[in-house]
Amino acid sequence: MKLALFDDNRLGAVIGDDDAIVDVTDTVPGYDRDPLTGGWWRALCRDWSVLAPAVNAAAEAGTPLPLSSVTLRAPVFGPSKVIAAASNYHAHVAEMHEVQQRTLGTTHDWMFEFDVFLKSPSSIVAPAGPIVLPAEIVAADQEIHHESELVVILGTGGKDIPVESALEHVFGFAIGLDITVRSPADRSRRKSYDSFSPIGPWIRLRDDDFDGTGLEIRLTVDGAVRQDVNTSDLIMSVPQIVSYASRIMTLNPGDVIFTGAPPGVGPITSGETLVTSISGIGVMQTVVA
Ligand code: MN
Repeated sequence: MKLALFDDNRLGAVIGDDDAIVDVTDTVPGYDRDPLTGGWWRALCRDWSVLAPAVNAAAEAGTPLPLSSVTLRAPVFGPSKVIAAASNYHAHVAEMHEVQQRTLGTTHDWMFEFDVFLKSPSSIVAPAGPIVLPAEIVAADQEIHHESELVVILGTGGKDIPVESALEHVFGFAIGLDITVRSPADRSRRKSYDSFSPIGPWIRLRDDDFDGTGLEIRLTVDGAVRQDVNTSDLIMSVPQIVSYASRIMTLNPGDVIFTGAPPGVGPITSGETLVTSISGIGVMQTVVA
């Protein structure tokens, strides 16, 4: 099952060969398109097992619209937080020594250890973007990098979630870009500018056949391959990330977790087109304004 948000924040089921969408909004209790009142979305993520039969029935009975006729929104709605993992592929950790030398003139050993940090939820933007490069960052000639990542959307939340049951708390998976300024500043500021978190094109719900493992992540910039990795190379697996984050902060339904940058991070510039794909999820095409 693939769930999308589209047009005026309608809820849709993506069907066929990812080329059609059925509006299933009317199945959702308490639906409200106002992004400041996203309780219905969090309830959907939390109570999916209860709501799934009605949504599935509506998806089968409804009239499909061509996907090309709608505008996809980010498939998350007013998350209480956006968590991101750092240093979660060995090959990326290795490359960051050189990246930090080039962009900072030094290296910070603490940043080469796995950890989680927060991005502002207001940095979320539609899959198509646009990513807006902040004028003062461009003027300062600081690099702004792409990080193409598997994104987790939380279902039931919790605190101190054991690794063994952490997957049960995952609602689904999406594609995300963790856009990042390389500068000597706190991660949360460098990664929280408006539009620095494109997410899309939809959520592929977790099920017995789709648990986030063995997925190919690939990013091209204007057609050139920049990142190409398999999620089997994650240092900390999805269940381990969820469990770790939940030891620090209560995870809420609908919360978003970026699982970490693959190797191959590099600068983006105005006018470029980023195409990110993850096997089993889909393809996200994002423009840089
Ligand atoms: Mn990242």
